[in-house]
Amino acid sequence: MWDFSTEPDFQERLDWADRFVREEVEPLDLLFPGTTEPYDRESGVFREIVRPLQARVREAKLWAAHLSPELGGMGMGQVKLALLNEILGRCMWAPMVFGTQAPDSGNAEILAHYGTEEQRREFLEPLLDGRIVSTYAMTEPTGGADPGGFTCRAVRDGDGWVIDGEKWFASNYPYAAFVIAMVVTDPDVPVHKGSSMFLIPRGTPGMEQVRGTGLGGEPPGEGGHGYLRFTGCRVPAENLLGEPGAGFAIAQTRLGGGRLHHAMRAAGQCRRALEMMGERIVSRRTRGGPLSDQQAVRQQLADSWIQLEQFRLQVLHAAWQVDRANATGEREHARAARLHISAVKAATPGTLVDIAYRTIHVHGALGVSNELPLMRLWQSGPTLGIADGPTEVHKDVVARLLLQRAEPAEDGLFGSYHVPTRLEAARRKYAGQLEKMEEAR
Ligand SMILES: Cc1cc2nc3c(=O)[nH]c(=O)nc-3n(C[C@H](O)[C@H](O)[C@H](O)COP(=O)(O)OP(=O)(O)OC[C@H]3O[C@@H](n4cnc5c(N)ncnc54)[C@H](O)[C@@H]3O)c2cc1C
Repeated sequence: MWDFSTEPDFQERLDWADRFVREEVEPLDLLFPGTTEPYDRESGVFREIVRPLQARVREAKLWAAHLSPELGGMGMGQVKLALLNEILGRCMWAPMVFGTQAPDSGNAEILAHYGTEEQRREFLEPLLDGRIVSTYAMTEPTGGADPGGFTCRAVRDGDGWVIDGEKWFASNYPYAAFVIAMVVTDPDVPVHKGSSMFLIPRGTPGMEQVRGTGLGGEPPGEGGHGYLRFTGCRVPAENLLGEPGAGFAIAQTRLGGGRLHHAMRAAGQCRRALEMMGERIVSRRTRGGPLSDQQAVRQQLADSWIQLEQFRLQVLHAAWQVDRANATGEREHARAARLHISAVKAATPGTLVDIAYRTIHVHGALGVSNELPLMRLWQSGPTLGIADGPTEVHKDVVARLLLQRAEPAEDGLFGSYHVPTRLEAARRKYAGQLEKMEEAR
């Protein structure tokens, strides 16, 4: 059963979201363009503008669409979420207004599964309600792609754990009410069996920010990504989330969804770029006609649309794989979902960079200027090639999963597609018929 249409009821809600984001939320990107501003809960804009907008999203039954109904979400599944996230991707503030921003989305799921009743009351409820934000800390200054190199340690001490070490690029730490950190608890086994997840509330003695790091273009020495140091940082035993040694497995569940959600939003960013490209090439004139008269320019539009459609279908297919895996619980389906998520993750930066580049290019100097949002869009390509794991690592996951299915050829020299060998086999298979055909001639 293949069907690419959207249910009319859901399409109506998407249309509402599209209008709402364009008219009500996009102005916030212009008024408050700092990349960390949406996370500041003390700000006037949060109180005066974002809270009322969030209330309207709740009324429209689109709040925290990624979460299950038990957690106050819509439980709409990943395919529908992909269609919604594509709309939210247009605008930096939209995920916050719709309650789907990272890393809170993943942290909420961890707390829901592994938090105590008290932790859920103190941290999960306000997080789900959008009253606080949180941080996820896994990467270390010495390296992020290879968790095998992590050295931040927690040691059991009486009725608690004591954490020592450093974390790096912990997004939104300056505004976070708590940190969920993946920390090594058993250095004698591989990290995927020897790390654990901890809840560390803001203000816990021994947890400090060395400095905040921003993205390129932001003023040096400040930014929303925390370089954190833990020095004898003590947390009670119940702040270990899940079993000791389960940290890596929990991280993978959490990061899988996040990677896919980034890709969904990237499709929205590219769609917006295509709108800009189309408008530009029918408006701007050269040699007596619009830019769209130039075949080389039309090709750039076509290349971008083709690339976006391929990417978008890949994202939707990956989303469907996740829904199927969740519905059946089958190992094989979970493996397929993992393959598709990594493939989509690897495809995201290139799609963004290519489409942003062409859109910038047809806009000339305006495209590279600070009067259009295109350079920021372009920058999100390399950024998403790093965040949640570099492209090479995800391509490697794809290749390793594909190789599990690959069988060595019986004839290792020429392989099973060798034409002379197959022709010989085909002749043997139809020998009788070939003989009769020969006699009839
Ligand atoms: C915007 C942003 C937000 C982030 N937010 C968070 C956060 O909230 N919490 C958190 O914990 N982390 C966060 N990170 C960190 C991110 O997860 C790491 O940057 C990422 O895992 C890569 O680690 P690294 O920067 O140390 O690069 P490295 O691990 O040093 O890798 C650098 C490069 O080396 C190459 N490389 C590395 N390994 C391989 C390999 N196996 N095969 C081939 N080539 C390889 C790749 O080219 C790679 O890009 C964020 C990063 C960004 C950019």
